[in-house]
Amino acid sequence: MKKFFPFILVFIILIPVFICVGCSNDKKISDYSIILTYDDVNNTAEANTIVNYINNSENALSFIKFHLYPNAFSEEADGSVCTTVNEVKTYPNGKSWGGIDISKVSVNGALTDFEFEECANTILTVPLGFELFPDETVKIQIEYKLTLPNANHRFGYGENTVNFGNFYPIVCVYEEKEGFITDPYVSNGDPFYSEIANYSLSISYPCDYTIACSGDNIRTSENGDFITTTFISNKVRDVSFILSDKFSSLKGKSNDTDIYYFYYSDQDPQGSLDTAIKALNFYSDSFGDYPYSSLCVVETNFVHGGMEYPRLVMISDALVEEDYDYVIAHEIAHQWWYGVVGNDEFNEAWIDESLTEFSTALFFGSHKEYGLNYNQIIDGANSNYKFFLKIYKKINSEVDTSMLRSLIDFKTEPEYVNNIYTRGIIMFDTLKQQLGDKKILSILKSYFKNFAYQNVSTEQFVAFFSKKSGTDLEKFFDSWLNGKVVFIVE
Ligand SMILES: [Zn+2]
Repeated sequence: MKKFFPFILVFIILIPVFICVGCSNDKKISDYSIILTYDDVNNTAEANTIVNYINNSENALSFIKFHLYPNAFSEEADGSVCTTVNEVKTYPNGKSWGGIDISKVSVNGALTDFEFEECANTILTVPLGFELFPDETVKIQIEYKLTLPNANHRFGYGENTVNFGNFYPIVCVYEEKEGFITDPYVSNGDPFYSEIANYSLSISYPCDYTIACSGDNIRTSENGDFITTTFISNKVRDVSFILSDKFSSLKGKSNDTDIYYFYYSDQDPQGSLDTAIKALNFYSDSFGDYPYSSLCVVETNFVHGGMEYPRLVMISDALVEEDYDYVIAHEIAHQWWYGVVGNDEFNEAWIDESLTEFSTALFFGSHKEYGLNYNQIIDGANSNYKFFLKIYKKINSEVDTSMLRSLIDFKTEPEYVNNIYTRGIIMFDTLKQQLGDKKILSILKSYFKNFAYQNVSTEQFVAFFSKKSGTDLEKFFDSWLNGKVVFIVE
């Protein structure tokens, strides 16, 4: 995701706005089948999800846990989905509640009881009634009703779009030592962590809407006033879709990938599509081929700058024109860092966000026509970071400059953004200076190839970069990630 702060923009034309996972290549992957009907009168949806879950762990499992992210939008939720500063931008018509109401759960065809955990029922536990041994599969069917809030957010409806992000029950990642990881939804960052899976979505919606979805449209049919569109998306860690009765669209191509741009107020849609094509070309050349057949870039009602999903990125309609291309380039870089190579975005957000910011700077460094060069972006990041330190030291006397901590441990949004994005890009630029341009790009290419469709931890990241560079980088990353690198602030 990409967030922007006004005080940062005083110092630089632009810099970050805001914004995922585990299985190795030889593991079998789970599949999801989602059937959903959207009711635009009540802003609700009736849905049914079938998950064929494969136990890829070494342990026998007696239950499966799911995230129910829409319940973070409910009245009972502990904390808001946005900060106080963003409340009006998120809820322009006043506070509005949403959620997911689970009605039935069955395991291998037999109805079962289920339990909720955490505040506002954001975790669903499904007891299996038997032990699921390693490599065995269980079929879990969940019926539910979604209520969308009137909110300019990942999940919600606004004036122009209906956003279905993080809308369905998704299995929590299972780690051998920790069990199911059930970290909550928080307003900072992208609090997500999931595994690669295969998806089928069948979405029904009123005829006057157009759908942008993260997958290949394999079938569309009309039934009275409703259209039903079926999408397939394989080897992705999430799916999302956006509906609008105002969408126009353009289509372009990057190698074998169709790029669709959906928009309603963009004054230069061809320019935005061209940026998306150039970004996909550049990252494919730099890091490794984009492995999917389509990508949707979608203008949306969204409180932050943008948001990444596999094969679909949201770009906020509230962005000022000068930032639009930057956010498109940033969110598309996430297709590599988070999309294909995943990580626990709740506990190790630096892994995808810092690398995405660095990749974005490389993109603009190679595309002079945008009037931004690489050094300008790095200089801007340095100025912004020093300004952040100065202001925060005045307010708090001490500033926590560590990057390696969970989203919940960042006390404010500026603390999160400046440490993860801004400090992160400076860290990668410093590494680039140490290793040289050729070597860092070669490592990133190997990193993408080696960890594709997996989740990477900080430990794995540091070990891989050390091995490939032929240099022990443990101290380097430790000093940056744990806040030991000091900036001189005048
Ligand atoms: Zn991001």
